[in-house]
Amino acid sequence: MSDCIFCKIINGELPSAKVFENDDVLAFLDLSQVTKGHTLVIPKLHNETIFDLDADTAKKLFAVVPAIARAIQSEFQPKGLNIINNNGSFAGQEVFHYHLHLIPRYNETDGIRTKYISHQADYDQEDLKQIASAINQAVQI
Ligand code: AMP
Ligand code: ZN
Repeated sequence: MSDCIFCKIINGELPSAKVFENDDVLAFLDLSQVTKGHTLVIPKLHNETIFDLDADTAKKLFAVVPAIARAIQSEFQPKGLNIINNNGSFAGQEVFHYHLHLIPRYNETDGIRTKYISHQADYDQEDLKQIASAINQAVQI
């Protein structure tokens, strides 16, 4: 896509600090470096969100993620690593070319918060079954 900054990075029109590349996938450092080694993994095919991603592209994308995560782990010895994927502006997406953030975690004040507020008390087992069933019936593989 001509006005997509990640497509421009793939095409070499914009610079990037490349971490890994094959025919289908590119991994490069996020400019913001929330933590040291913060890496973006993207399919070369332009898809905006998880809702557009086809299974084959997803397969090729996720196939390289463990190796990149292990490389970050062996180089920088983080205590953990979050994989984050924002879909839609409401969910915090700013670049509309599908991407995974691999964010190594070093300490409690490293700039990322991943604690969620649980609403478990609002849902009993029957509610959970109904929600799960609705999603299950809508799955199209
Ligand atoms: P998101 O909010 O999930 O869409 O994340 C977009 C990410 O892309 C942000 O963390 C930005 O720092 C990062 N970003 C934007 N432009 C570039 C660029 N030219 N090179 C590397 N990372 C970028
Ligand atoms: Zn793109």
